[in-house]
Amino acid sequence: MTKNIIDRYAVMGNPVEHSKSPLIHQQFAIQTKQNLTYEKIQVETENFARDVARFQKNNGKGLNITVPLKEEAFKIATELTDRARRAGAVNTLILNADNRYTGDNTDGVGLVRDLMQNHATQLLNKDILILGAGGAVRGILEPFIDQQPARLVIANRTVSRAFDLAKDFSDIFEIETVAYTELEGQRFDIIINGTSASLSGELPPLADNLFNKNSTAYDMMYAKDDTPFMLWSKKNHAEKVFDGLGMLVEQAAESFYCWRQIRPETKPVISLIRQSM
Ligand code: NDP
Repeated sequence: MTKNIIDRYAVMGNPVEHSKSPLIHQQFAIQTKQNLTYEKIQVETENFARDVARFQKNNGKGLNITVPLKEEAFKIATELTDRARRAGAVNTLILNADNRYTGDNTDGVGLVRDLMQNHATQLLNKDILILGAGGAVRGILEPFIDQQPARLVIANRTVSRAFDLAKDFSDIFEIETVAYTELEGQRFDIIINGTSASLSGELPPLADNLFNKNSTAYDMMYAKDDTPFMLWSKKNHAEKVFDGLGMLVEQAAESFYCWRQIRPETKPVISLIRQSM
């Protein structure tokens, strides 16, 4: 009798203990009736290439990659999607049969879908301010530019980092870069917090009154309670204020689609994760 071999998927990172990806992907699998397993695997950076190869040999078909391995995944991918190449980082690996790995990045499309589909927030012709110039912001720039905003401004503590980032996209859009102090007096329709300040309970040094009427605030971080940026946004009369849980589930759905060519429903999974927090 032949053994029934089940396709394996996992998230690799360090740490991964608190990752919500297994719960999300198990829900997607149940919902779409896909026979697969999804694990979390803690990996040391120096062992990453070896551990990916081992996982693939043991019927591994795909991986999500999280901190601090996204740049490593970019390096070991044998082919890259355009959006991964632009992002300079890979959060999804498709493990092909003959030791080829396709590297993709679904973070940006995840954020854009959460804003546009779940929160009815359009980006077309909007004045958008993005706080931060790290890996996550790099990943969202191209999907944002695709939606044709009127203005894209990046403010970062280290302004040179924002400037370098803008330069890498100058062939497709003129992104403005500023220090936080230069924001005073400006107004935006959408402000995205892509800094990691919320992780340590901090708020970037923002002037008051940065929101236009009917504006949206979005913190890429998610937590049980409002982050400092969300509290600041409410105090400053942003009309809609969201955290990044929807982005997390939407980027996972896009990875799931890359692996299984089937698109799961995200709304029930967002609700479930929210309840579990
Ligand atoms: P990086 O470490 O690459 O970048 C961190 C950025 O935050 C830098 O621009 C840094 O500025 C800035 N920063 C850090 N602390 C402060 C502070 N106290 N005040 C002002 N700016 C600060 O991180 P990532 O880009 O990988 O992640 C950023 C955020 O996005 C995290 O909160 C992460 O959880 C979230 N994220 C959410 C996802 C989701 O699915 N919801 C997916 C991916 C990321 P400087 O350059 O000056 O150091």
